[in-house]
Amino acid sequence: MKILISADMEGATGVTWPADVLPGTPQWERCRTLFTSDVQAAALGFFDGGADRVLVNEAHWTMRNLLLERLDDRVEMLTGRHKSLSMVEGVQHGDVDGIAFVGYHAGAGMEGVL
Ligand SMILES: [Zn+2]
Repeated sequence: MKILISADMEGATGVTWPADVLPGTPQWERCRTLFTSDVQAAALGFFDGGADRVLVNEAHWTMRNLLLERLDDRVEMLTGRHKSLSMVEGVQHGDVDGIAFVGYHAGAGMEGVL
C-alpha cells in the first residue's frame, strides 16, 4: 500500500499567525520542527497501519520547509516547486492507494484554521 501525504504548513501544530509560516523568520524556524513532527507522526502511523511506501509531497510556499533529516528513512520525498500538480504531485502515476492532507487550512479570511 502506497500513501501520499500532501503536507502544508498553515494548519500544522503550533502555527497561529502568518510569521509562523514565512520562511526565514525565527517563528518559521520554530514551526518547521513542529511541522516536521506532524508529518513524521502521520508517516509512522501509515507504516504501522500497513503502508509499505509513504511519499511526502511538501506543499508549503517554497516547498522546502521540512527537516528531512528528522523524517523516517523509509519516507520518500517530493521537495521543491518543480511539480506539475503542485500540492498533489505524485498522485498522477496511478500507484497511490490513499492521500492524507496534513497541515491543511481554511482559505484566507474564512472561518477555520488560519
Ligand atoms: Zn502553505
